[in-house]
Amino acid sequence: MREGLTVAEAQDHILEATPVMGAETLAASEAGGRVLAESIVSQRRHPPADCSAMDGYAVRREDLSSASPDAPCTLPVVFEVPAGGHAPRALGSGETARIFTGAPLPPGADAVVMQEDTDQGAAQVEIRVAPARRAHVRDAGEDFDLGDTLIEAGAVLGAPHLGVLASVGRTIVSVHQRPRVAILSGGDELVEPDRPVDGGRIVSSNSYTLAAQCREIGADPIYLGIAEDTPNAIEARMRAGLGADVLVSSAGVSVGDHDHVRSVLEKIGCRLQFWGVKMKPGFPLAFGVIEKTGQLVFGLPGNPVSTAVTFEEFVRPALRKLMGHRAVHRPTLRATITDRYKKKRGRLHFVRVTLERTAEGVLAHPVSNQSSGVLTSLIRGQGLAVIPLESEGVEAGTVLDVQVLDTTFFDGVDRGF
Ligand code: AMP
Ligand code: MG
Repeated sequence: MREGLTVAEAQDHILEATPVMGAETLAASEAGGRVLAESIVSQRRHPPADCSAMDGYAVRREDLSSASPDAPCTLPVVFEVPAGGHAPRALGSGETARIFTGAPLPPGADAVVMQEDTDQGAAQVEIRVAPARRAHVRDAGEDFDLGDTLIEAGAVLGAPHLGVLASVGRTIVSVHQRPRVAILSGGDELVEPDRPVDGGRIVSSNSYTLAAQCREIGADPIYLGIAEDTPNAIEARMRAGLGADVLVSSAGVSVGDHDHVRSVLEKIGCRLQFWGVKMKPGFPLAFGVIEKTGQLVFGLPGNPVSTAVTFEEFVRPALRKLMGHRAVHRPTLRATITDRYKKKRGRLHFVRVTLERTAEGVLAHPVSNQSSGVLTSLIRGQGLAVIPLESEGVEAGTVLDVQVLDTTFFDGVDRGF
């Protein structure tokens, strides 16, 4: 087992060990946010026929070549085509038909004059323009045609995709499965949120943070409860999570006398692949694979910020890969750090920052308490500024990469244009 990997090495290692999950079929209406596991090839044409883009009159251009506001042409209206209807016959020379938006163009017609350019007559109509070729006509197949690939496998299904699926009659689609993530907390000091916190007890918040982080990306958390700090208790709870796709435990993975997670993992058939990542917060982190089943196992550090940040950096990308996403990482932006930040060489630091948009670009304000025990700092911290491994820190005014955790940062309070 390797010890003390860089963040990049650990991420590469994990992603290499992470497969893409198989497909399941789902009602298309329920498939928003999922990753498509098949390509959608159209078995239809849309629009199915040439049709009108306006309420107006279907015409033959040759009949109107001289029409203008000063010299309108008057033509008979020989029939009407509503949306959903069809022309009773072809349009003859010197004839027009009343037509409405979405109605099929009668054979023989080659343009539509919008009603605003006419006197809107019923039996006959006065037309004041000479229309351009195929004016206000939507061509058959303009949106998509038979055999067109409309959505490639691997696409993340958003609202327009669901609309397109509906328009080609696809009510069932094949998407990548969502991983079930068993979540275990460990520590004699931990209690559930509704229990008294006397006698040095603290609430086990990690399970709640982790479950929410899973749900946020569409993975399915399964809560295994709190294990006491004994190998037997940890083993019993972990075994309950062996049917899941991923097992995530927090705490008990460091080098203390009560840290049994690693030895238990080995006992239950997990091949540990590495321990320790050169980062802050969150050095003690174990990653392995259950040999028999391929289940991924993460032993995350217990300090609440370390738990959340290591989930972000290592578990989240793996879960997204399992679900078929190609873009597995958080978005980053370049931002100017507003305070000096000093550190020792040898670990990459993820500095919690509050982000501020200004005319000169984005400012990253480090939150005042960077302790890995202060979970409220992550509420203020909208992003993680990356201070590289070999750096001894940065001066105020340095431009850095920031991973954006709080994507509401991209939402606009102002219109923006
Ligand atoms: P450990 O890795 O077991 O040494 O835990 C490190 C720190 O994280 C200790 O202060 C624990 O009390 C705290 N901690 C561990 N698990 C949790 C949890 N589930 N929720 C909140 N804090 C925790
Ligand atoms: Mg502990």
